[in-house]
Amino acid sequence: MIIMKTSRELSLMREAGRISARALEIAGKAVEPGVTTYEIDEIARKYIASEGATPSFLNYQGFPANSCISVNNVIIHGIPSKNEKLKSGDIVSIDIGAKLNGFHGDNAYTFACGDISAEAQRLLTVTKESLYEGIKAAVAGNRTGDIGSAVQRYVEARNYSVVREFVGHGVGADMHEDPSIPNYGTAGRGARLLPGMVIAIEPMINAGSAGIRHMPDGWTITTRDGKLSAHFEHTVAITPDGPVILTDPSREVQR
Ligand code: MG
Repeated sequence: MIIMKTSRELSLMREAGRISARALEIAGKAVEPGVTTYEIDEIARKYIASEGATPSFLNYQGFPANSCISVNNVIIHGIPSKNEKLKSGDIVSIDIGAKLNGFHGDNAYTFACGDISAEAQRLLTVTKESLYEGIKAAVAGNRTGDIGSAVQRYVEARNYSVVREFVGHGVGADMHEDPSIPNYGTAGRGARLLPGMVIAIEPMINAGSAGIRHMPDGWTITTRDGKLSAHFEHTVAITPDGPVILTDPSREVQR
C-alpha cells in the first residue's frame, strides 16, 4: 500500500531529509586514507544525535551500525569496522538515514578516498548522473518504470550494469514503504507517481557484470566478479511542480 503524505508531513520529512543529507556530507568529509569505516560511522552517529534524531539503520532488522559503508567491490550494506582502514584509491559508498519527528530520510553517495583511478572516477560520475536521470523522470503522472528505464538506459549505454536484487522504495514513517523503485524496467509500467508520494531513488551500478554475492556476515553484498560498484541515493517528493529532493544538504529547514 502506498502511503501518501500530507503537506504537513512533507514539511516534517524535509527536516528528516536535511539531517540525513548533512550526516552524509559530514561522513563524506571524513573519508581519507588511514581513517577506519568505524570512525566515519561514529562521526555520523554523533551528528545525528546532536540534532535530536535517530539513525534509521541502527538495529534495522538487526543491522549493527548507524550507517552502511561499502568499499570498492562492496555494493551495499557494508558494516563499518575498526579493522577496515581506508586507503588512497578506494571508493567508499556511504548510506545514511535519520529519523526525526516520526519520519525518515534516506540517502547515499560514493566518495573518492585520496586519488582514485580514472576508471573509478568514471563509474562514480555515471552512477551519480544516472540518479539524476531517474529523478528527472519522477514526475506526477509517470510510472515507476519510467524511473527505472531512465536509469537503466543511461547506465547501459555507458557499458555498466544495474544491480537487480536491490531497489529503491517509498520512504515515510517506515524507511522502506511501497512502491518499489527498481533501477531497471519498462517505461510506462509500474505504479503511477502521484503528488504526496515520497520515494528513494538509489541506483547501484557495477563496473562489470550485474551479479552479486552475499557475504557470510549476513549483510555485506559484493559484486560477483570482484569489480567496483557505486551507489547514489536521494529521497524525493513527487509534487505538482515536479520532483523535490528532500535530502539536499543545502536546503534550509522549513518551519
Ligand atoms: Mg534506501
